[in-house]
Amino acid sequence: MGFLDSLKSLFRANPDNQYDKYGHWIYARCHRCGEAIKTRLDLRNDLHPRDEGGYIVRKTLVGNQLCFERIKVTLTFDEQRRVVEQEAVRGKLITAEEFETTSSQ
Ligand SMILES: [Zn+2]
Repeated sequence: MGFLDSLKSLFRANPDNQYDKYGHWIYARCHRCGEAIKTRLDLRNDLHPRDEGGYIVRKTLVGNQLCFERIKVTLTFDEQRRVVEQEAVRGKLITAEEFETTSSQ
């Protein structure tokens, strides 16, 4: 699946975003234990303006299981606060669908 496709499915199948206009959820999987973790960004408060335009957010995700890996996620947004780039270190970004599948097991 391409980057754009995964972005699209992220927005289409995201139940958390339905009634949450300013929320942007990040879903990631820990590279050590495989736990799926999600966290909410507030598009009004969590975005930091960049000198070159747009916004950037850095988040550290830690799971609930006995694994203390810290997954560092960086998201870049354009002026309209749409995601243009996202990356994770020590983990992998996944879609809402993947998250729901994993966490309901
Ligand atoms: Zn872990």
